[in-house]
Amino acid sequence: MIIVLNRDAAQEEIDKIKRKMISLGCEIHESKGRNYHLLGLVGDTSRIDPALIEANRNVDRLVPVQEPYKMAHRLFHPERTVVKVKGREIGGGEFTVIAGPCSVESKEQIVGIAESIKECGAAFLRGGAFKPRTSPYSFQGLGEEGLELLKIARDKTGLPIVTEIMSPDKVEKYEGDVDIIQIGARNMQNYDLLKEAGKASKPVLLKRGMSATIEELLMSAEYIMAGGNERVILCERGIRTFEKYTRNTLDLSAIPVIKKYSHLPVIVDPSHASGYWWLVEPLAKAALAVGADGLIIEVHNDPANAKCDGQQSIKPERFGVLMDTLRKMAQVANE
Ligand code: PEP
Ligand code: MN
Repeated sequence: MIIVLNRDAAQEEIDKIKRKMISLGCEIHESKGRNYHLLGLVGDTSRIDPALIEANRNVDRLVPVQEPYKMAHRLFHPERTVVKVKGREIGGGEFTVIAGPCSVESKEQIVGIAESIKECGAAFLRGGAFKPRTSPYSFQGLGEEGLELLKIARDKTGLPIVTEIMSPDKVEKYEGDVDIIQIGARNMQNYDLLKEAGKASKPVLLKRGMSATIEELLMSAEYIMAGGNERVILCERGIRTFEKYTRNTLDLSAIPVIKKYSHLPVIVDPSHASGYWWLVEPLAKAALAVGADGLIIEVHNDPANAKCDGQQSIKPERFGVLMDTLRKMAQVANE
């Protein structure tokens, strides 16, 4: 439920309404813009009598919110959320590209890739240190050493770093070390992890689970936001369907759907969505065309010998060509 306040409502009257709602068991999420002042009611609203609120002269109207997510809902926050990190923005109209290898393998590898993607215009460096692998026998990532190597690459290039977290007890460490905390598809509904990430001061890149609906993705975002961290970036990375020619099926319609229902920025991962390097370019372009706020792309200097996901990684040269094309497309899209 959302209380839309009159624009001339006095602060002491607003405070009275807030106190009343809290006494009835609700939490309040206040949102104020140039042309609106809202009180979003979260939690148990069953004891609230809508007629009494509407009778209040300081209230313009009451808007029911059908969807189970509230803080992530566009009605709660009519202006789009722009996540700002070290002078970069996600969701602010720029098409922001995060790039780098699936996993950090060595200092030379991560620094080399960071330098080349930076030259091509990437805004962030990605790289997995703790890797969620389907097989326990596959490379599991360099762990803490991987985080240290990412920090070296950041120091050398100035690119902020994005890396996946797997365990709730690592949130404090990640908070100190990384610029954006990634929660992967396999952990989208790891509620303990979401709750811990909700306490972090760093933005969270939340990837859609492989069999998750858009509503479930938004509910997971709600967990993080309800914990106090409102800097959530959503990521469509393909979902599981019956199709076998691609690793997953990129759900392009998720982008405009999310933009209709939520104020949160949303980016696309064409690498995990497709599973093949030759599909990354067309899907990246499609993502821009449907209104995504950016991309996260796997780039590797030597895909044939990559420890993880080489088949879906593009080389820095191809990444450069793609970035040039995206820049031209973005110009047209913004006209
Ligand atoms: C990744 O980005 O490295 C990754 C494992 O992606 P996802 O969680 O989407 O499978
Ligand atoms: Mn990968």
